[in-house]
Amino acid sequence: MKHRVVVVGAGFAGLQLVQDLDGAGCEITLIDQRNHHLFQPLLYQVATTLLATSEIAWPIRRILRRRRDVTTLLATVTGIDRAAREVVLGDGGRVPFDTLVVATGARHAYFGHDGWEADAPGLKTLEDATTIRRRLLLAFERAELARDPAERAAQLTFAVIGAGPTGVELAGIIAELAHRILPGEFRRIDTRKARILLIEAGPRILPAFIPSLSAYAARALERRGVEVRTGVPVTDVGREGIVLGEQPLPARTVIWAAGVQASPAAGWLGAKADRAGRVIVGDQLALPDDPQIFVLGDTAHVENDGQPVPGVAPAAKQQGKHAARQIRARLQGKPPPGPFRYRHMGNLATIGRNAAVIDFGRFQMKGRLAWWVWGLAHIYFLIGARSRLMVSLSWLWSFLSGQNSARLITQKETLRERP
Ligand SMILES: Cc1cc2nc3c(=O)[nH]c(=O)nc-3n(C[C@H](O)[C@H](O)[C@H](O)COP(=O)(O)OP(=O)(O)OC[C@H]3O[C@@H](n4cnc5c(N)ncnc54)[C@H](O)[C@@H]3O)c2cc1C
Repeated sequence: MKHRVVVVGAGFAGLQLVQDLDGAGCEITLIDQRNHHLFQPLLYQVATTLLATSEIAWPIRRILRRRRDVTTLLATVTGIDRAAREVVLGDGGRVPFDTLVVATGARHAYFGHDGWEADAPGLKTLEDATTIRRRLLLAFERAELARDPAERAAQLTFAVIGAGPTGVELAGIIAELAHRILPGEFRRIDTRKARILLIEAGPRILPAFIPSLSAYAARALERRGVEVRTGVPVTDVGREGIVLGEQPLPARTVIWAAGVQASPAAGWLGAKADRAGRVIVGDQLALPDDPQIFVLGDTAHVENDGQPVPGVAPAAKQQGKHAARQIRARLQGKPPPGPFRYRHMGNLATIGRNAAVIDFGRFQMKGRLAWWVWGLAHIYFLIGARSRLMVSLSWLWSFLSGQNSARLITQKETLRERP
């Protein structure tokens, strides 16, 4: 019987591993609760009308159609029976494994306030992105209908909580929507009067970047009409808006970009986890007490030189590659590769048209050139020529015409109907 490798999660880590096991001679079962692989770095552009969903996600079956050694299952994993060496599915089904790879990513963390999610959705899935897009577009529509000036102002107030790259990118592009794309289409309201707030509890935005780039990004956002508030915690979130410290702020559209929590894999495995729920793995990315179970990507806590490897796409892909090398070596009876070493590719964030910041560690870039580099890097990492072409064309069209094309309100509310 062939060696059975079960991979849970077809994100950056899981898919990379499966691709790198091509020809390894094992029988692979890839399980994901969605039928698509998602390019999360461009999700915010779906949420803000620049790209359509099909431009940043691809059916997993289609990607792996030529791989006769891979069986793809659309199923939700709910547990792992380590004693029986089986993965447990939501419908009660079980999938046996010889080697298991868990790469189930992360979700938003509301720091003990899970009730806030209904009014402040985070951005992680295509459903999240289309929910946020729907709310953004409906807020302008409701403002146009509102007779009460206070209600109109609340509809035109957008609060983004958390100023890492996702928060910065969202705030920048919402400002462009309000100030550059929508004016002229509404008759009763001036969309340029919209207030876009970017709120950060810490002392500066983009804390993973060097301070001068954070300062540049804050100035660039303010020039685009974003109010940047740092050093203020959000103490409450509700249907009417948020409370900043002690001060209530009516805002009908609130987006959460403040924290992540790993998938519940540590519970399934009965393994040790860090405070963010990430499973603590050894330098070969496997459980310390079970070398046949790998945990990768955003679900794993692995350290290099005493520092945790960050939860970013290149780290997940590098881990997928490393674990595939390990599995191959074992199957061939060869010595294992050296310990996993993360190669940092740099921190990137875009602020809006013609403005981005890039921190490569040894050198930094900002402004228009950084924006082009950011765009080319993202095009390069998309899957397939069609997506690269479609995204390039969408960006070019938006750049030349000043219009975003994905502006239809089609979806029903997925969280809770709002006033
Ligand atoms: C909005 C946003 C923007 C980002 N921007 C950037 C960026 O600009 N640059 C960058 O480097 N990184 C960025 N990241 C982070 C990057 O996307 C992650 O680090 C990366 O996706 C982690 O890869 P992964 O394979 O661990 O998990 P994921 O890519 O999240 O994949 C996890 C997979 O597991 C599946 N899954 C989860 N639970 C189950 C279950 N119970 N059963 C079955 N399947 C399951 C999911 O459906 C998913 O397909 C961003 C993330 C987000 C959310």
